[in-house]
Amino acid sequence: MNAARQPHAVVIGSGFGGLAAAIRLGARGYRVTILERLDAPGGRAYVHKQDGFSFDAGPTIVTVPFLFEELWELCGRKMSDDVTLAPLDPFYRIVFDDGSHFDCSGDPDKMRAEVARLSPQDVKGYEAFLKASEDRYWYGFEVLGNMPFTNFTDMMKALPKLAMLRSDRSVWRAVCNYVKDQRLRIVLSFHPLFIGGNPLSVTSVYILISYLERRWGVHFAMGGTGALVNGLLGLVESQGNRIRYNATVDKIDVVNGHATGVTLANGETISADLVVSNADIAWTYSNLLRDVPRRRWTDKKVDSLDYSMGVFVWYFGTNKRYDNLEHHTVLMGPRYEELLKDIFKRKILADDFSIYLHRPTATDPSLAPDGCDAFYALSPVPHLDADVDWETMAEPYRKAIEARLEERLMPGLSKSIVTSHVTHPRDFADRLLAWRGAAFGPEPLLTQSAWFRTHNKSEEVDNLYFVGAGTHPGAGMPGVLASAKILDLVLV
Ligand SMILES: Cc1cc2nc3c(=O)[nH]c(=O)nc-3n(C[C@H](O)[C@H](O)[C@H](O)COP(=O)(O)OP(=O)(O)OC[C@H]3O[C@@H](n4cnc5c(N)ncnc54)[C@H](O)[C@@H]3O)c2cc1C
Repeated sequence: MNAARQPHAVVIGSGFGGLAAAIRLGARGYRVTILERLDAPGGRAYVHKQDGFSFDAGPTIVTVPFLFEELWELCGRKMSDDVTLAPLDPFYRIVFDDGSHFDCSGDPDKMRAEVARLSPQDVKGYEAFLKASEDRYWYGFEVLGNMPFTNFTDMMKALPKLAMLRSDRSVWRAVCNYVKDQRLRIVLSFHPLFIGGNPLSVTSVYILISYLERRWGVHFAMGGTGALVNGLLGLVESQGNRIRYNATVDKIDVVNGHATGVTLANGETISADLVVSNADIAWTYSNLLRDVPRRRWTDKKVDSLDYSMGVFVWYFGTNKRYDNLEHHTVLMGPRYEELLKDIFKRKILADDFSIYLHRPTATDPSLAPDGCDAFYALSPVPHLDADVDWETMAEPYRKAIEARLEERLMPGLSKSIVTSHVTHPRDFADRLLAWRGAAFGPEPLLTQSAWFRTHNKSEEVDNLYFVGAGTHPGAGMPGVLASAKILDLVLV
C-alpha cells in the first residue's frame, strides 16, 4: 500500500500490550509509530544489563505460549524460528517457614504425590479443587478473557454463570473449602499475587490459574524474557513500522471528541488516525487526557480505585553457582494472611516477607559470566499509599532480604555478590509513570474486572483505544496479550 495513504496509528508505550497492539494494527495495514519514554522496549519487561549479567526486570513465567505464537502467525512467520521456550519441571518450589517444601508441576501424578506427602487427608479435596479450577478456566479465561465487555449487556449475560461459580467468594475462601493443611492452602491460593491481587479479596474465578498452568505449562524464554520482547520488536520492524525511544507523550490531542494524535513532552506533535495507549491507565486518564471532559473515568473515579501492590526487586549476580536452587523458588515467611493484610489493607511495610527468587541461570547459564549465577529476589510490598521513603528504606530492606536468603537458601551469599541493583514502588512511579507505584495497575477485584475495568475502546473519546495491565482483561503477559486481541475485535 502507498505509505502516504496508509492510516497512521500511534501506540503509547512498548510493554507487551503495546507491542502486540502494534503488530495487530500492522497486520491490518496501519502504519504504526510506537512512542516509548524509556531507552529500550518492554516496559515492565525491560532488561538490565550489568557487569556481564542480564536481568529481566519483571515477567519471567511464560504460561500461554499460543498468545505469542498468534502474533508470529499474523506476520506469516513461526515463533520457534526466533524464540525458544523451555518447559520447566518443576514449575516452582515453594519453601515454607517450617522448612518443608512443595514442588508444583504439570504432572497430575506428581502433584497428587506432593499433596499426599504434605497432607494425605487433603488429596480428595485437592482433586475437587482442580476440577473447580478447570471449570473456572474454561469460563473465566477462554470465554470472559476474550469478550470485549464494551457494553453492560455483556456483563448481564455473564452474571448468572459468575454467580453459579461463586465468584463473589475470594480465592482464599474457595481454597479453604477444599483443603485443610495451611501449607496447601498457601500453595493453591497465592497465584493472584502474580497479577497484583490479594488472594484474600480477589474473586475466586482466579483459582483458574492452577489449571491454566497445568494445561499450558510453565516456560522460560531462552535468553530471558527480553528475547520475547526482541522477537516482537522484530515483527514490528518486519511490518515496516518503528519505535521511537526517549519519547514521552505529554498528552493525547483531542478535537471535538476525536483523538487526533499526541503531543510529546518536548512539544512535538504527531498526528494519527487512531491512538492506542499502553501507558498506565490511571496516568492516561488523569494526565494524558487532563483537559478532556470525562463522564465515567473522572479524576475522582480513577483515584478511588483499589490498586495492586508494589514490588521490591533486588537483582544480583554471584561469583558462584547455587545448583541447590530450582529456576523458581518461593520462600514463604512466617505469616501469610496477616502479611497480605499489611500489604493490601493496612499498607504498612512489615519486617517479615515472602520472597520469590528467580534463578534464570538454572535454565540458561548464558545470562551470567561462566561459573556465576544471575538472580532476582522479589518481595510484594504496599504501593505508595504506605508511609515509606524508599530512597532511605531500599538498602536496609535489601539487606534484610539478603540475610534471609543467606540463612535459609544461599549459604555464603553476602560474600559472593558481585553485582547488585534494586527497584521499588517509587521507581515504578518515576520511570514507568505507574499510578501509586503499583506493579500491576488496578487490583483485579470483581468490582474492577470485565465491564467494570477500563474498556479497550475508550468510552470518552473516539479513535482512542487501550491495551495493557490496567485494561480488560488484566495484568500478566497472557492478560495484556489478550487485551491487544480484544482491541482487534473492537476496532471499527
Ligand atoms: C516484577 C514483576 C514480575 C512479573 N512477573 C510476571 C510473570 O512471571 N509472568 C507474567 O505473565 N506476568 C508477570 N508480571 C506482569 C507483567 O509483567 C505485566 O502485567 C505486563 O508486562 C504489563 O504489560 P503492559 O502492556 O501493561 O505494559 P508495561 O510493561 O506496563 O509497559 C508500558 C510502557 O509504557 C511506557 N510509557 C508509560 N507512559 C508513557 C508515556 N507517557 N509516553 C511514552 N511511553 C510511556 C512505559 O515506559 C512502559 O514501557 C510481572 C510484573 C512485574 C512488575
